[in-house]
Amino acid sequence: MSEITRRMFLSAGSGIAGAILLAPEVFAASVRPRRPRRPRIYTRSEWDAAPPRRKATVTDHPPDRIVIHHTATANTGDTSLEAAFRLSRAIQRHHMRRNGWDDIGQHFTVSRGGYILEGRNRTLPAIEQGKLAVGAHVAGHNSRALGIETEGTYIDELPTKAQLNALVALVAWLCATYRLDPQKAIIGHRDLNATACPGDRLYGYLGRLREDVARRLGTVRSSAARLAVAEEPQPALVEPGDGEEPAEPEPGLIRPVGRKDRDGRTGDDAPEGPRGRCPAAGDGPERLS
Ligand SMILES: [Zn+2]
Repeated sequence: MSEITRRMFLSAGSGIAGAILLAPEVFAASVRPRRPRRPRIYTRSEWDAAPPRRKATVTDHPPDRIVIHHTATANTGDTSLEAAFRLSRAIQRHHMRRNGWDDIGQHFTVSRGGYILEGRNRTLPAIEQGKLAVGAHVAGHNSRALGIETEGTYIDELPTKAQLNALVALVAWLCATYRLDPQKAIIGHRDLNATACPGDRLYGYLGRLREDVARRLGTVRSSAARLAVAEEPQPALVEPGDGEEPAEPEPGLIRPVGRKDRDGRTGDDAPEGPRGRCPAAGDGPERLS
């Protein structure tokens, strides 16, 4: 019996029968997660980020959601580190110059080559303190959600193997640091806003991502316990009328086809953009270059 399995039995008290009856919170708390090492993250100074207009607000609480996006840019074959740096600079320019935001919106970007780049200013120091640098990537939820942009468009295909591996490493480190249950914390952008982001294929892969992260943390549930969890009513992810405003205007990167920007704020409640683009993501490689 492995160490993890033995501990599960001990904490469940009566073995499998006990595990089935455990609420997910109790179960997650009963298995001490491993603390995966922080993966290599290329910092803002490494990719030569511009200074933000204003420093990001840092919350006094951890995020409760990790939101997966796609950048809706080309699925480029250029998997170099320099390409990853260029992409981050382009997205930052786009968010600051065209959207008028204070800084790049997301907290991390995972490139086609599997490189992980820091996004929003103050992201890494905030995480080390168990807090969140408020970004601009998911309308109405920025003070509770950390955002990861996956470079590419994942409507018809999956990210590269290197990207998927990097996502597991990054999200496992985040879940361990923030003590989040991957089964609940990992969501797609479309779970919170009207958008096709992160694309059907990547969205469909999120279950596998949750499992891979749980395995990395050593908190993967037995199939019996998973069954019990699946039968539980899940709380709605979007609380209607929670009154929470984005930390800064999110005019939306992509205007829906045929819709005019009436008041400079199309993004927050805008319906899905063309080709399932993410309002916080890029505007296509032609615009980002
Ligand atoms: Zn998105």
